Amino acid sequence: MNDYLSTLTLEAPLDRDGLRRLAIHACLDLHQVRWLRSFVAMDGKRMLCWYQARDAESVRLVLRQQGSAGAGVWPVAVTDVAGSESLDSSVGCMVVELPLSSPDADEVASLTAGISAALRGSGAVLRRTFLSSRDARLMGVVEAGNPGTVVERLDAAGILTASLWECAAFDPRPPKLFESHAASKVRELDRDAESFGAAAPVAASEWFDAIVIGAGLSGMCALERFTRMGLSVRVFESGSDVGGVWYWNRYPGARVDSEVHTYGFSFSDELIRDWNWQELFAAQPEISGYLRHVADRFDLRRHIQFDTRVASAAYDDHHACWMIETDTGERARARYLIMAAGTLSAPQLPDYPGMRDFTGESCHTADWPESGIDLRGKRVGVVGTGASGVQVIQTIAAEVDHLTVFQRTPTYCIPQRNRPLTEADLRRIREDWGQILKTCRESYGGFIHTFDPRSGLRVSAEEREAKFEELWRKSGFAFWFGNFADLMMNSEVNSHACEFLRNKIRARVHDPDTARKLLPDHPFGTKRVPLECGYYETYNRSNVTLVDLRETPIERVTPSGILTSRQAHPLDVIVYATGFDAGTGSITRIDVRGADGVSLEDKWRDGPTTFLGLLVSGFPNLFIVNGPHNAAALCNAGRCIDQNVDWIARCIERMCGQGIRRVVPAPAAEAEWTQHVYDVAEASVLAAMKNSWFFGANTPGKPQRVNIYAAGASEYRKQCEAVANSGFTGLEFS
Ligand code: NAP
Repeated sequence: MNDYLSTLTLEAPLDRDGLRRLAIHACLDLHQVRWLRSFVAMDGKRMLCWYQARDAESVRLVLRQQGSAGAGVWPVAVTDVAGSESLDSSVGCMVVELPLSSPDADEVASLTAGISAALRGSGAVLRRTFLSSRDARLMGVVEAGNPGTVVERLDAAGILTASLWECAAFDPRPPKLFESHAASKVRELDRDAESFGAAAPVAASEWFDAIVIGAGLSGMCALERFTRMGLSVRVFESGSDVGGVWYWNRYPGARVDSEVHTYGFSFSDELIRDWNWQELFAAQPEISGYLRHVADRFDLRRHIQFDTRVASAAYDDHHACWMIETDTGERARARYLIMAAGTLSAPQLPDYPGMRDFTGESCHTADWPESGIDLRGKRVGVVGTGASGVQVIQTIAAEVDHLTVFQRTPTYCIPQRNRPLTEADLRRIREDWGQILKTCRESYGGFIHTFDPRSGLRVSAEEREAKFEELWRKSGFAFWFGNFADLMMNSEVNSHACEFLRNKIRARVHDPDTARKLLPDHPFGTKRVPLECGYYETYNRSNVTLVDLRETPIERVTPSGILTSRQAHPLDVIVYATGFDAGTGSITRIDVRGADGVSLEDKWRDGPTTFLGLLVSGFPNLFIVNGPHNAAALCNAGRCIDQNVDWIARCIERMCGQGIRRVVPAPAAEAEWTQHVYDVAEASVLAAMKNSWFFGANTPGKPQRVNIYAAGASEYRKQCEAVANSGFTGLEFS
């Protein structure tokens, strides 16, 4: 290995962390380039990096890749080494840059001797020189130098200095991530690098360590973490800004169902200090604003390509990398592919005849136009009464002329009890931040609510009723995740909770027939529970009609409205709140092909198979965040994303550190996890009602297989930790 210096031009001065990230970014294990340390020019606009590499070409290649990664950096010159003195990395150093009239050996030798003589007795020592043959410069690495003294001494000796570079003030040790490989590995990588260049039609500039699909919460969290690890990352996002579901779901009333401070990112304490949440359950505009703030604050946008949908992803086994192609034909490669496309982001429209003939306006809640839809004074129909439908219905009822709700399955809604967050609330949240995160980490759903450890059958009927009432009066998912510990496992406890909630509906809805239609008959929690604000009272309004599709199904959509088996409902606007092809839809809508060319859609034809919901056998280096078989569906998404990304990062760190190029779950480990997911669901109350997106039942043609890990987020975390702590048992590394 030789040493090389390279100057990089910065578009703008960077802070310490930015510089560090930039320097270590450039080190791809494929090219065997190690970053040693960096120096910054006095003008703050240029940076000098010192690398160890096999040859100058590797450094150039890496820098070209780096330059195109949007970092605003490009190589100016790579200089060859002309000295071999070792340097004690524990002491400070600087670089002096001296112009040469010609890069001839005599001039270099005399200048080198001149610098050494000039510095004698100053405490600064010239340790090493690098020669730039391209632009006739000599770079001298001076150890323990005081910049002022060095310049003075060189001036006094009549030696002209072009610029002075100070060692960037960060840990100069090479990051662990880039430990050197065994010689055999290097030879293998060499061969690979050559054949890669010859075979691949993709420019080196489109090569990244990791490609992330989606710039919602998951993608942003992965991006922040991976860039902090020093990986080069490109995120592809179909929207025009960050946010994912929060970008697309702009329907009236869209609002988070986690206490919002527990939902945001936890990777920086500054965020919880800087951002003043306005409401306990923030609405879509506030959350979108927060996510844009995070993107700006952590300079994430430069790694994200917006308005770009990934159409296909194919694994290239020979080069151990993924090749993606976008819908506009652009291609890019990366060692790791991260699916962060969202568990609920592939909208599911019904297929009623005549939908295209409707002459009014219609849209899915997850595809709401940015300019909005003016619903005032209109006759509006809402199809679907899941969490999205409930939020739309309770929000728009007062402004429309008439609202017709088309309900297929009634579901249990519990009061959200939203409120503004005061200064005192925010102070308390900031003070308790560590404890809040710990509680979420350890709780079943990743929320701040924790189960009552008692069984719902070990208390008297009065005590049980009192507990239900107390929880019902609390905000958020207290009634779900703060309930008796066996609520989700014991059908008798669950049926008591159901009856309590049915009584609440009966008490709130005036018309007994409407109340009857709103009464669910499935176990509580077997569909994700919507949080409501006055939802049931909406049905007491004279301008709201509830149509029970189980009694009078929709026959078709007509040009002027919806026709059920009983009557025509004239409408100006139809809102489809009909949910998503959940868990797998956002992944299989991309043509993903694994090592042997098999498509993921085919592999999952009978239902998803995964290891920990994070990896899939036959699909090396593909990681899924909050996908199927994950605890995410019952979880506070922000907290589950943290955990998923952390686990993936640990796995990648191990691979980088040990020169491992491939990871894939062993088929037996995948089969075992998948069976475990089924077993857990069968042992819970979920088994009693499979008509939900938890089982893919809402997507025509989809196999009815459980999508979610029903043992909860804390148990899921434990299982993942156990795998990581055991050296990633179940995974095959090569
Ligand atoms: P969903 O829970 O799947 O609800 C879809 C609704 O549409 C159901 O009522 C469904 O009836 C009905 N539906 C589907 N196809 C239909 C058809 N062909 N004809 C008539 N009705 C039909 O979808 P979602 O409400 O969008 O919520 C999905 C998930 O997103 C939630 O469970 C939650 O995790 C998340 N979300 C969260 C929030 C929040 O508060 N933060 C808000 C919105 C969404 P059936 O039940 O009979 O299938």
